[in-house]
Amino acid sequence: MAEYRTFTTDDAMRFADEHSGLFGDHSKLSCEEFGDGNLNLVFRVSNDKGTSLIVKQALPYARCVGESWPLTIDRARIEAEVLLKHRKLCPDHTVEVLHYDAEQAAILMEDLKDYRILRTELISGKQFAHLAPQLASYLAQTLYFTSDFALTGPNKKQQVGRFLNPELCLITEDLFFTDPYCNHERNNIHTAINSDAQQLWHDEALQAEVAQLKADFLSKPQALLHGDVHSGSIFINDENCKLIDAEFGFYGPIGFDVGSLVGNLLLNYLGHFGLTADDDTRQQHQDYLQQQISLLWQQFSQQFKQLMETECREPSLQNSRYQQHFLQQIFADALGYAGCELIRRTVGLAHVADLDSISDSDLRAKSERKALQLGRELIIQRRELSNIDQVLTLLRHLK
Ligand code: ADP
Ligand code: MG
Repeated sequence: MAEYRTFTTDDAMRFADEHSGLFGDHSKLSCEEFGDGNLNLVFRVSNDKGTSLIVKQALPYARCVGESWPLTIDRARIEAEVLLKHRKLCPDHTVEVLHYDAEQAAILMEDLKDYRILRTELISGKQFAHLAPQLASYLAQTLYFTSDFALTGPNKKQQVGRFLNPELCLITEDLFFTDPYCNHERNNIHTAINSDAQQLWHDEALQAEVAQLKADFLSKPQALLHGDVHSGSIFINDENCKLIDAEFGFYGPIGFDVGSLVGNLLLNYLGHFGLTADDDTRQQHQDYLQQQISLLWQQFSQQFKQLMETECREPSLQNSRYQQHFLQQIFADALGYAGCELIRRTVGLAHVADLDSISDSDLRAKSERKALQLGRELIIQRRELSNIDQVLTLLRHLK
């Protein structure tokens, strides 16, 4: 086997050609590297007939920082295996992996060129009625069928071991749960909200709840998570949406994936206070987002409930009171993790364009303060909030 080396465009072309029958004998291939992500190389390999595939290669360091931040290339295995597993469970909404090469830490996958990144679409005010139903179904299928409700004890433990993913989890552990709550050099704070950010460093009640959420992230292997369900990992078009980029996948709390997504929809909602000047247009988009958040939880919880009732193989977990309690706990966890996402995307290392692309500094600060306020409320009140309408009421009453 060839030793690992960073791909050139020629290497990526050869890799794609070797591992797919798509291009044919005499097709002329071209290749460009166009990754805009933080960590990896992403190539598009195309032939002269318009057929194309994506080659994604993990670098032995984080691309956005450079060689001073080494990072295991085993993350390509995690990404490929999570995507393959999720695709089996939810083929419609998971990108197709055609080949994975362990030595080169490279994945060959379908090119979603007929799709666009959800974050960009939501920022420009586009709306998709199928967003929440499809993502609810993705989350219910992938999370239920990798949980203890569906797997036997020994099999589940073997799976947990395969997907430990310590290095990538550590990034989440730091960026989500540690940095925003102290004066960390990695934080990235818009100067206009400096004093609001500093309040987080002294808020012991909030820090205690974040500690609980972090402890659960560390020690609650409920299901095989995607691990990074933000709106930059979702491709969408008028008919469908698909998840990519599962390198943060591991066995963790189900509410983490659900909450990351809810958090990203909320960030878009808050961003539009600064992105959309016209009141009616903004209101209309924000109504759409509220409706999607509501649908997402309703449909996810209904499907998960039905799966527990009809598919559970483990007799002691068939207890309906237990199942009801389990769903309620996913809800509270999801709200807590959504709150963490709001806060870390506002003051932590990795921001989102929903807030950062607000050009007026005062308006941006207003949206950012709302994100911190809502994040705090969701984290602190997550166990008292008993349904999604109460969450939307909190959202509408932000100052
Ligand atoms: P990273 O893990 O480095 O963040 P991503 O998987 O998020 O990398 O990919 C970075 C970018 O590459 C995406 O934002 C998208 O523009 C492009 N990309 C990745 N996978 C695909 C794909 N299957 N089809 C089309 N574009 C893709
Ligand atoms: Mg990415």
